[in-house]
Amino acid sequence: MAPSATHPLAESGLNFIATQHKYAEEAAKRLRPDGLAQYVELKDAESDRFKAIGQDPWVDHAALNAQDPAVKEGETYKFAILGAGYAGLLFAVRLLQSGAAKSADDIRLIDAAGGFGGTWYWNRYPGLRCDVESYTYMPLLEETGYMPTENYATGSELLEHAERIAKQFELTDKALFRATAHSTTWDEDNQLWTVKLTEDRGPGETAVDVQFQAQYVLIASGILTRPQVPKLPGLESFSGPMFHTARWDYSVTGGSPTDSNLVNLRDKRVGFLGTGATAIQALPQLAKSAKEVHVFQRTPSAVHWRGLKPTDPEVFRTQIAANKGWQRQRRMNFQSYLNNAPEPGQANLVGDAWTELRAFSAVMGTPGHIIEPTADKIGEHVGRLYALDLDRAERARALVDKVVKDKDTATKLKAWYPVWCKRPAFSDDYLDCFNLPNVHLVDTDGKGLSSATKSGLVFESKEYPLDVLILGTGYRTPAIGNGSPAARTGIDILGRNGRSLEDKWQPQGASTLHGLGTNGFPNLFFVGPSQGASAANYVLVLDIGAEHMAYIISEANRKNKKVLEVSVEAEQEWTMECLKRAAWFSAVAGCTPGYITSEGETMKPDSSVEERMKLAQAAGWGEGVASYVKILEDWKAAGELQGYV
Ligand code: FAD
Ligand code: NDP
Repeated sequence: MAPSATHPLAESGLNFIATQHKYAEEAAKRLRPDGLAQYVELKDAESDRFKAIGQDPWVDHAALNAQDPAVKEGETYKFAILGAGYAGLLFAVRLLQSGAAKSADDIRLIDAAGGFGGTWYWNRYPGLRCDVESYTYMPLLEETGYMPTENYATGSELLEHAERIAKQFELTDKALFRATAHSTTWDEDNQLWTVKLTEDRGPGETAVDVQFQAQYVLIASGILTRPQVPKLPGLESFSGPMFHTARWDYSVTGGSPTDSNLVNLRDKRVGFLGTGATAIQALPQLAKSAKEVHVFQRTPSAVHWRGLKPTDPEVFRTQIAANKGWQRQRRMNFQSYLNNAPEPGQANLVGDAWTELRAFSAVMGTPGHIIEPTADKIGEHVGRLYALDLDRAERARALVDKVVKDKDTATKLKAWYPVWCKRPAFSDDYLDCFNLPNVHLVDTDGKGLSSATKSGLVFESKEYPLDVLILGTGYRTPAIGNGSPAARTGIDILGRNGRSLEDKWQPQGASTLHGLGTNGFPNLFFVGPSQGASAANYVLVLDIGAEHMAYIISEANRKNKKVLEVSVEAEQEWTMECLKRAAWFSAVAGCTPGYITSEGETMKPDSSVEERMKLAQAAGWGEGVASYVKILEDWKAAGELQGYV
């Protein structure tokens, strides 16, 4: 809901009103009737070409085939963790530290990838880095004693760190890779989960179906794991090399994940489709190497300053990592700005551009402000957020004018949406690229491309001839299926009496205790966007969840309880508490489409009350991370595993 021009905050200036109108106009241009259906996931594509693009470029089949498989048909393990990215690793480590797992041998990790790392395994495009400070983002820095080399680590360093954690906690031989989990089914007789997966053995080898059992299943299968491409007429007919950024093809570009000198592009005209967070990081590397780069833009990203620098070991040792517990403190300190709730006088420990984005609290929550779900209260709340964001938004637009010399290009690069509608981008060199003679912006003014041909991309009957086409077109939204962990991961989750999680979640909406477990699905835990904490640093969310789950399971062990299940009353109560706070997130309704709004599908004006309720139910905790953590701590202090039966 956009705030009205007569809103009291409109007094803050004419700009406020004009900006709201511009935002609404730009969002309307981009709303499409096909919503999510405008994309196809690579793995679901009918075309062999797209399927091939979705294959794992990094896997070493020979090495993996030579290993004794970590998971064996018919075996029973205590913990099955589905996913071996940072979430899977954090879950495993917290289980070990809490004593819930006696040793790494209790644990098995399953991943479709060929190694640890998740996001950082799959994504290896040039320029890739974490976008929140490494000291807060990288998991388990205290436990590993690792000092990141820069304040925003490269993708390679983030991948190595996953491997470091696995090694240190003796998980290396506890993971089955190239293994896609299809289903997990509660076996009432044995009080165990039965997991079914298929292990890909590589070209020329027969894939192996494996079935095993586990006492606990932990879903760690990520949020942005399913690369998608637009259903653009003619796209697969493009005759040159074409790949998605999540499967970068260095055999085409030259260079490597640690060498951004893309030598094979020296004489190539490269097309880059998309201008999201990936494009912001990849373009400067392409611009350095390619003969020509055409950047095809539907919606410009708002770009903020970065301030990349090497870590000063002395500062790291004496100031950043000086005290036990520093990493959690630093993460919470950082997040407090995103919740627009730093303590008065508090030092801003990270102090980067993120911490200026107070209006990002629109999707992160804020403590103590529960918004009544009436039109006037919501209007007022949304108006405040827009006003809070205005200065930041104008600074981002001013930055474009300052950096980009050509006025027309600068105009096209300005973002006209509030900060909470898309993941903010940070770069010291993206905008500069548009001053280079070999970089060309093809702005589609919100329309997107018209089609593709054998030789290039077409916008409004003009063809742009290309030799190489790179698709930076993102991922299936994690909000799919009202945030259900089954819909998000594509794993069938069948609980008591064979009832699927989808059969529960879709008619009833998200129903959890603390966003981590749900009734009817004993000994099953997950972390995700619904009914739990939201943080700009997603590893904070994962770690809070991992610690809490490990605590619950270790307590159950101590009490000699083998089966834990969220009670109906507990999930109803928590769902009600979440719903009470869900109106906080109303500002998303006016957003330009993107994965946050399921490409506009969550904003359908004709949606029923029931649909809206489900959306509200699927939101995160409306009072921010500190409040969520306090609730978990109080819950623990009560010591009774309240709400679990
Ligand atoms: P992932 O890292 O996505 O790992 C999930 C794993 O589960 C994957 O390896 C996948 O193969 C596996 N999997 C999924 N389904 C199945 C199945 N059915 N069977 C078997 N395996 C399966 N967040 C931030 O906070 N800061 C950042 O800087 C940041 N940068 C990002 C950059 C990119 C390019 C992307 C795509 C995301 C980024 N994110 C960032 C979000 C990022 O995904 C999280 O920070 C974090 O890495 C997620 O960890 P995860 O283990 O939950 O999921
Ligand atoms: P996004 O979904 O953010 O971007 C996809 C891009 O493709 C958008 O610019 C989109 O335009 C464009 N697009 C899609 N279809 C068309 C079309 N038909 N014609 C023209 N353009 C089209 O994907 P990313 O991979 O960039 O990022 C996904 C998420 O991953 C981020 O939001 C972030 O959470 C994470 N990430 C984090 C990074 C980090 O800095 N550490 C780096 C990379 C990703 P439109 O906006 O109009 O839809």
